[in-house]
Amino acid sequence: MGVGENQSTIITDSSQPLIGLDAIRIVLVATTHPGNIGASARAMKTMGLSELILVAPQNYPGVEATARASGADDILYRARVVDTLDQALQDCVLVVGTSARPRGLSCPELEPRRAAQVLLATASQAPVALVFGRESSGLSNDELDRCHYTVQIPANPRFSSLNLAAAVQILSYELRQQALVGQPALPPLKTALPAPAEQVENFYQHLQTVLLQTGFLDPDNPRHLMRRLRNVFNRAQPSQSEINILRGVLSSVQRPQLRTSVVDSTSKDDFIRKD
Ligand code: SAH
Repeated sequence: MGVGENQSTIITDSSQPLIGLDAIRIVLVATTHPGNIGASARAMKTMGLSELILVAPQNYPGVEATARASGADDILYRARVVDTLDQALQDCVLVVGTSARPRGLSCPELEPRRAAQVLLATASQAPVALVFGRESSGLSNDELDRCHYTVQIPANPRFSSLNLAAAVQILSYELRQQALVGQPALPPLKTALPAPAEQVENFYQHLQTVLLQTGFLDPDNPRHLMRRLRNVFNRAQPSQSEINILRGVLSSVQRPQLRTSVVDSTSKDDFIRKD
C-alpha cells in the first residue's frame, strides 16, 4: 500500500513545523565544493529540515556556500563542523547512509520512501542521521559500516550519481511527505531505545580486540569478518543495557575466571553416541 493510501494517516497542517523533521541530522562527509554545502542547506530549508552537520568540509566557510544557500544561510550558521563522522553521529540511535550505487557487503538497503518512514518513526524518540558522501567517491566502506541501512535514489542505472545537493533535496522531500501524512504504520520500537552510535562503535572496537586476542580474527586475512559481525548486531539494534552485557561477555573472555566445576556442554563427547 502506498503512503497516501493508508486510511488511518492524518494529514498535518503544513503551515506548522512538522514533528520529527528537526530531529533528523543531515550529515555531509568531506564535501569538496562549498557551493554544494550551501545548496544542500537550501534544499533542507525548503523541506523544513534544519540540523546540518559538516564532517571535515573543504574550503568552508566561504562566500560560495553562503551565496548558494540563498536565504537558507541560517541553516549554515547553525551547522556544526566536526572532524570525524563518529563525532557527527554522537547520540544517534539510527544511521542511514546514502549511495549512488549498490554496495556489496554493506548493510540492508531501503528505498527512499521506506527510509523516510524509518527515520521519522525513530526521530520522534531520539536523534537519527542521514549521511551523504563526498562528490568524488561517495562514502567509504568504513563510513558505511557506521550505518544501519543504506538508501539509493533509483535513478538511471547507467548514470545514477546525482549532484550531492540534488540527492539531499530528493531525500528531504521524501522526509517532508512522510511527516505530512503523519506517523507510518510501523511496528513500535522496542521499549528500550537502541544504544547511541558511539557506544555501539566502542563495542565493535572491543569485539575486534578480543577476536584478535583469541586468534579468531586473523589480521593478515580479515575477510570482511568485522563487517559481517556489524551487520548481525546492527540488525538487532541492541539497547544500552544489552551493549553493557555484550561488553561484559567480552571482558570475561579477556579475564576468564575459570570455574572447574562447570562441565563443557559443547565438549566433543556430547556428540559421540554412547549406545
Ligand atoms: N562518484 C560517487 C558519487 C558521489 S555523489 C560514487 O560513485 O559513489 C555524492 C553523494 O550524493 C553520494 O555520496 C550520495 O550521498 C549522494 N547521491 C548521489 N546520487 C545518489 C543516489 N542515486 N542515491 C542516493 N544518494 C546519492
